[in-house]
Amino acid sequence: MIREEKKSELRKCAICGKPYIEKKVENKFLNRTFFIAPCDCEEKLEQEKKAYSESFKRYKKSLKDANFPFDTNGKRLKTRTCENVEIARQYVESFKPRTRQGLYFVGSVGNAKTTLAVCIGKELIKKGYRVKFVVFSQAIRILQSTYGTKNPLDFMEQVKDFGKYDLLIFDDFGREAYKDRTLTDVADFVNYLYSNKNNVIITSNPEMVEKIKQIPDFDAMFDRFFQMTKRVDFKKSSYRRIAE
Ligand SMILES: [Zn+2]
Repeated sequence: MIREEKKSELRKCAICGKPYIEKKVENKFLNRTFFIAPCDCEEKLEQEKKAYSESFKRYKKSLKDANFPFDTNGKRLKTRTCENVEIARQYVESFKPRTRQGLYFVGSVGNAKTTLAVCIGKELIKKGYRVKFVVFSQAIRILQSTYGTKNPLDFMEQVKDFGKYDLLIFDDFGREAYKDRTLTDVADFVNYLYSNKNNVIITSNPEMVEKIKQIPDFDAMFDRFFQMTKRVDFKKSSYRRIAE
């Protein structure tokens, strides 16, 4: 960085304090004094500012793409006190994409399970990972929209589009209806996620789990989901997001 002589306070680096190098230029055309930076502190600071603003933009974009159903009121995993929060913290801490390391949150309505899953997702986005939140029945609807004209992707392209995320959060697993093609579609989807070594967090109600256990081929279909996740039970029911 080169400055022309102007204010005396500009004659040293504002960051490291080293004085600028004074250079007089006197020739046919010029008779002026320039000050040359002795360091690259200011360039580095500019680069840092740029990198910071870019990562902030990326964070906002990823957050939008994740499609969380609510904000976690700015309360972070660090300061949270709800049930199983320690498991969530450890999960974020040791997270590695494509390792099939998932969580299966089971508890009745009003537990912190969805909130905790969203918190994990947000923390991972801050670390630069790609996260997608989707109610499981909605994921099936998106997959099956490929049979119509509204979705430009075909079924497997849509499956792979889900598979590109570092973490998939499937909320409210078990509420979907299994009829017609849904059984094979879901089986194909789960098989792909398994072979792609995706990391998933599934939230579900105990009653819903019992209900879908009745469907034929349940074990064959969801065995892989359960192989990809570690079950975490939520027992307290007093938790309310708003009251926090
Ligand atoms: Zn400097």
